[in-house]
Amino acid sequence: MPDSLQGQVTAGSLVEVPFREKALTGVVLELTAEPGCEESRVKDILRLLEAEPFFGRKTLMLVEWMVSFYGATWRDTLFAVVPAPVLAQVQRPGKPRGPRRSTLPASIHYPAPSLLDEQRQALKAIRPGEKVLLYGVTGSGKTEVYLHAVEAALQSGRQAIVMVPEVALTPQAVERYRGRLGDTVGVLHSGLTAAERREQWWRLRRGELSVALGTRSAVFAPLQDPALFILDEEHDHSYKQDQTPRYHARQVAVRRAAQTGAAVVLGSATPSLESFYLAQTGYYKLLELSARVTGRKPPPVELVDMRRRPRQLLSQPLVERMRETLARDEQVVLLLNRRGFSSYLQCGLCGHVHKCPHCSISLTFHKQARHLRCHYCGHTTAPPDLCQACSSPELSYRGGGTERLESELATALPGVELARLDRDTTSRAGGHAEILGRFARKEARVLLGTQMVAKGLDFPDVTLVGVINADGGLNLPDFRASERTFQLLTQVAGRAGRGQLEGHVLVQTLDPENACLVSAAQHDYAGFYARELELRRQVGYPPFCRLVRLVVSGTQAEEVEHEALDVARILSARVAQAELLGPAPCPLEKVRGRWRWHLLGRTAKVQELVQGARTYFDQKANNPRSDLQWSVDPDPQDLL
Ligand code: ADP
Ligand code: ZN
Ligand code: ZN
Repeated sequence: MPDSLQGQVTAGSLVEVPFREKALTGVVLELTAEPGCEESRVKDILRLLEAEPFFGRKTLMLVEWMVSFYGATWRDTLFAVVPAPVLAQVQRPGKPRGPRRSTLPASIHYPAPSLLDEQRQALKAIRPGEKVLLYGVTGSGKTEVYLHAVEAALQSGRQAIVMVPEVALTPQAVERYRGRLGDTVGVLHSGLTAAERREQWWRLRRGELSVALGTRSAVFAPLQDPALFILDEEHDHSYKQDQTPRYHARQVAVRRAAQTGAAVVLGSATPSLESFYLAQTGYYKLLELSARVTGRKPPPVELVDMRRRPRQLLSQPLVERMRETLARDEQVVLLLNRRGFSSYLQCGLCGHVHKCPHCSISLTFHKQARHLRCHYCGHTTAPPDLCQACSSPELSYRGGGTERLESELATALPGVELARLDRDTTSRAGGHAEILGRFARKEARVLLGTQMVAKGLDFPDVTLVGVINADGGLNLPDFRASERTFQLLTQVAGRAGRGQLEGHVLVQTLDPENACLVSAAQHDYAGFYARELELRRQVGYPPFCRLVRLVVSGTQAEEVEHEALDVARILSARVAQAELLGPAPCPLEKVRGRWRWHLLGRTAKVQELVQGARTYFDQKANNPRSDLQWSVDPDPQDLL
């Protein structure tokens, strides 16, 4: 540190440093008298970028914990904590920091209802330092409890962070929070423009806003002294980041809350098995809201047996119900958790399925675009006329996605306005809001889509929900397949009958006796939980152990396999406390031209395994002749 900067640079400062021939931005992690290497090789800091230290002491401690717990680099972790547009700008100082006035519309004030008994008890339990699991069906008044808890935090002069899973969900959430809490609510999610994100972040940082409402990354909102962290729909897997640092917002929230003695509130109608188990064993305090505020029972769910017509997307009972519903001027939501027109192209003679050349999954036919597309890497190709394997012309399109459902609906219900919500129709900015807006204004009468339609939507005239292929997710090679299906069905069923009108749910399935589906149809979380927990106990999966997933990938299949075997051998010698399962090819064996193998470590000591793997991988990562990559994922949510 040059003398001119003495006293100005401290831990957390952003500085410009010489690196090779360039000047790069660096973060000062600590001040020390010991040079890290030979004294003559240490270069001077060029200049200080921000007068105030950019990262506070608590943030640096949190980052340090994430680096070691998630086995990520400091760089990736620091970047995850601050939104990219903010970082990009502080690296070019002197630029204005965006508009000071909020660009969001002003809010209308909504009065608060007085709380019901169970709500009041829940609110009382949300105290500093407490960790709470709020378990209550949709419509049982959880959000109302959150709002009161946030108000209490603000009254004590502190701040609050509220997380919701999806950007799609956020417009309604924003309206509700701002309607109650006024212009003190800042919004942080990836759907905002860079300028909006920067503006919101700085206003939170300067203390002009006291509530941060957003998706996963809002857990890092730059508030001085948060008293409350809320994760709504805590079971949602979007709370886990799927690239390094592979953090879970729930874990970070608990960690960050401990720094300021804040309360953590997890809310869900279908808590994750892990959280519910931790509540039963005392780590979280379990609070229940047992009924809908309206007193209405959850909608009846009927399973429709599709075994006699497996190729059909729409059953007769569902079409009839839809006609009746539409005739009463009510609305319909349909869930089919798969995009595109048909799932795959199969040869009628030899059975060959056309797969992506870069990934090990079948290509999906998109009718409007007239091509086959890979949903992992985006590879597209014209549909072939002949089978690639046997040159037979007998190719047929099998399975079905939202695009085909849309076209079958147009035939079954001529003249009915449809709105389709999936990643293909929402890829444009504002796509979401536009589609949901049309449905809200009843310009569209049927909303169909992927899991996006299951989450959070609140339209009072929706009285019928149909699930097209409930089995779709059940057979994935992932131990959470049943749990995910149960959660999805419960959530989508919750879209029906939210207003004054009674709702109905029809679930089409090839497996009507399946225990998971039957529990979902009976709204029986307790039954599902007990059975699933017992299965997990028998096979020794979470919550009865912790897992760490290690993935090796590379373009050379043989090299990847050898490396995976090496990793298994070396780690089982080095990390005595872990039981390693595998190695085996990942269920998705190849993605974007890279072959993938994985290992699952089962252990009570996650840290030890993560560190052991990281140390070994870092040693190997410097070989310029190989393109192998390794990843470490503690408490993995994705096993494909
Ligand atoms: P959840 O978050 O569990 O789905 P909400 O908090 O959104 O439930 O409540 C469902 C509906 O009931 C909302 O329209 C809400 O305004 C209303 N509500 C919640 N609590 C009360 C209450 N104590 N008195 C009157 N209405 C309430
Ligand atoms: Zn063939
Ligand atoms: Zn692909």
